[in-house]
Amino acid sequence: MPFTEVREQVWRATQKLCESNLIRLSAGNVGLRVGDDALAITPSAVRYDVMQPEDIVIIDLDGQVIDARPGRRPSSEWRLHAAILRGLPEVGAVVHTHSVYAMTFAALAREIPVISLEVYAIGGPIPVAPYACPGTEAVGAGAVALFRERPALKALLLQNHGLVAIGATLDEAHEVAYDAEIGAQTAYQAYQLGTPVVLTDEQIAEIRRVYRAPARRGG
Ligand SMILES: [Zn+2]
Repeated sequence: MPFTEVREQVWRATQKLCESNLIRLSAGNVGLRVGDDALAITPSAVRYDVMQPEDIVIIDLDGQVIDARPGRRPSSEWRLHAAILRGLPEVGAVVHTHSVYAMTFAALAREIPVISLEVYAIGGPIPVAPYACPGTEAVGAGAVALFRERPALKALLLQNHGLVAIGATLDEAHEVAYDAEIGAQTAYQAYQLGTPVVLTDEQIAEIRRVYRAPARRGG
């Protein structure tokens, strides 16, 4: 796919994520696999409301810039995107958000339980990867380790940081980020009012029979 098309797709995804209130200002980032060993990623420190498709940076999985507008650098979280694309070949797109309800659970280092179809559908409960300084390789290593342990899992929390959603496509990763935030908001509100009733293994098995299992990534 030509770089212009890839840039357009990533840029369009950022606009839709802003409309969904999942990313804002310049927090969060979006990456899309390009060929075998490259990715298109949102630039560092450019606000989404002024970002243009030409601002999207093409890098290889080692972070070397392949193609970029002058002055544009890849998101500081490029190592997270590169680690996921390298470690999980079935993943085509990564969305990282600082969405508020997900961050609330991330601040508590508390998983989001399976209390609704949204959390079930993305392979929940949504776990928390141990704290790692944002921008370091450790963020990606922690995320990849958790995703590898659970082949149906499509979203996880980064402790004291935010959310990572993955998908075969940008649309899927967006939907996963959205479902995760709905799950987090619902759980947060339920904890305010009382004790949420978490679906039992039997109830989850029944949902699996009726709706089919959350698809394994790439399956
Ligand atoms: Zn972040």
